[in-house]
Amino acid sequence: MRFGLHLSVAQGLEATLAQAKKLRLECLQIFAGTPRTWRQKPLDPDQAAAFRQGLAALGLEPVVVHAPYLINLASPERGLWQRSIAALAEQIERARALGAAAVVVHPGSRGQRGLDWGLARAALGVARALEAAGEGAACWLENTAGGGGHLGGGLAELAELLARLPGRPVGAVLDTAHAWAAGYDLAGAPAVAGFLDEVERALGLERVRMWHLNDSLHPRGSRRDQHTHLGRGLLGGGCFAALAAEPRLAQAGGVMETPKDSPRADPRNLAYMRRLRTLAGRRGRRSEKPWLAGS
Ligand SMILES: [Zn+2]
Ligand SMILES: [Zn+2]
Repeated sequence: MRFGLHLSVAQGLEATLAQAKKLRLECLQIFAGTPRTWRQKPLDPDQAAAFRQGLAALGLEPVVVHAPYLINLASPERGLWQRSIAALAEQIERARALGAAAVVVHPGSRGQRGLDWGLARAALGVARALEAAGEGAACWLENTAGGGGHLGGGLAELAELLARLPGRPVGAVLDTAHAWAAGYDLAGAPAVAGFLDEVERALGLERVRMWHLNDSLHPRGSRRDQHTHLGRGLLGGGCFAALAAEPRLAQAGGVMETPKDSPRADPRNLAYMRRLRTLAGRRGRRSEKPWLAGS
């Protein structure tokens, strides 16, 4: 797996780029504006172009934009739904200007409406946003903790959404803490292997375009989503060791959305995953030489 972080752009695009370089990131997620407001400050075209060139020079793969949280593509409220479509289209345009491959968005909440209604509504919302934005950047749907009418808690719901968007530039993003909150077991190597088998059956791993690596403070199935540092929550070290060692994820990008509660938090979480990857690589090399097994 290749590792990256969600980085703030609050200090400007240039500072974000410098940080990605300093931390030697291999993939990257950003907000392309403010995550909790509708109104977005226009991007400066020169700064966006410099950012795009800087990213290309660093070889980050993939780079994505996370959509603001106000967007609800499954909203039963017509006004909010239309506003969400326009906002997603704007994010896709921003992603393109910044050289990002895709916008990551949550499928949204259908409120009291039925599941089938919600899936149709969300799929139509994504399709309309992609049409409005034109060619250039994709839209990747993230799994959620579920609950409260939120779509995408189950892998089958994500698969159903993608199935309703044939021929569109769409994919899935899987967040470990959200999957755990939705009830999937990821604690320990056998659980992770079982989860990946389920992902293969429900979605196909090739449609999972990125992973979000987060530990969780709340029990499995709690529908509560609160991220913590890798190896320090209820998913625990076994989960992240297994993901780092998983050959099926060797080329996958894993972005950490862990708390930034100290200046050392990001480097520490990155170092944690890199160490697990190195250890897994050594074990792999040893097992290719059976005469060294157990040494
Ligand atoms: Zn998200
Ligand atoms: Zn996430």
